[in-house]
Amino acid sequence: MKEFKSESKRLLDIMVNSIYTHKEIFLRELISNSSDAVSKRYYRDGGSREDYRIEIKPDKQARTLTVSDNGIGMTLQELEDYLGTIARSGSLSFKKDGESESDESIIGQFGVGFYSAFMVAKAVKVITKKDDTAYEWYSEGTDGYEIKEVEKEDIGTDIILYLKDDTEADGQPDEKYSNFLNEYEIKRLVKKYSDYIQVPIYMEEEFTPEADDGEEPAEKKPVTLNSMVPLWRKNKNELQESDYSDFFRHQFSEYNQPLTHLHLKAEGSVSYDALLYIPSKRLTGFTQRIIKRDCSCIRAAL
Ligand code: ADP
Repeated sequence: MKEFKSESKRLLDIMVNSIYTHKEIFLRELISNSSDAVSKRYYRDGGSREDYRIEIKPDKQARTLTVSDNGIGMTLQELEDYLGTIARSGSLSFKKDGESESDESIIGQFGVGFYSAFMVAKAVKVITKKDDTAYEWYSEGTDGYEIKEVEKEDIGTDIILYLKDDTEADGQPDEKYSNFLNEYEIKRLVKKYSDYIQVPIYMEEEFTPEADDGEEPAEKKPVTLNSMVPLWRKNKNELQESDYSDFFRHQFSEYNQPLTHLHLKAEGSVSYDALLYIPSKRLTGFTQRIIKRDCSCIRAAL
């Protein structure tokens, strides 16, 4: 068992004991990592866009939720470096000047990435392959993590969440983590937070065969959950004010609403769609985040 670096321990503590009300954002964070991993592999290896995918698999019996991708994967060193330490500098600075801040403001203010999985999971397993050898990273939270060699056929990453037990308060259901195994809920979350992601997000769904005489077993077919249409390509009349502000907040990991936005659609000898935001406060670490987070959006827009 290896220990997490001290900053990671702090963040993990917050995640494990989180009373944050929007725990559902963990799925957006994992999908966003998968999408980044797919982009990295696409720009390295090329191939057709259709070859790349993200898959979500709920398993009610095992009480696990798996997010898989055939992105770039991680080497042993990368697993140690990326999942044993906080990668994002924004998260690091909060613990120095924000010791007394609430979970709500810390989690809302910074994209918290991979560790947000611990808001809903009592254990997380990562199985990943980049080169010839695959590795499994396993952690039950603050104690630390273990890494071992495993077999995995394809390049890419599986993130397996062992969901926390549902809780009760005063005899009433309180936290219902099993909601995250519900296909409708998963669809809703993907639509809400990850619809514009440029990689298809699949989930297997049960279909009852047409001539249903009760004897045919229900078939499973993969369905695509995201439209892959970025916000700026959509028609203004399809969008609500909250779509614009949610997109701004998620995309720039901002806690505040934007002051205003401008959605432009120009058609002529040069046609383009653009979405401009005026933030209500100066964004912290703005340039760094633009470069890191939004290259894929900018590429998609061109
Ligand atoms: P961030 O995404 O802001 O860098 P995270 O904590 O979410 O922070 O992830 C840390 C790093 O772990 C990522 O930058 C990436 O290098 C690596 N990583 C996470 N998920 C995946 C994945 N599905 N495939 C490949 N690498 C990943």
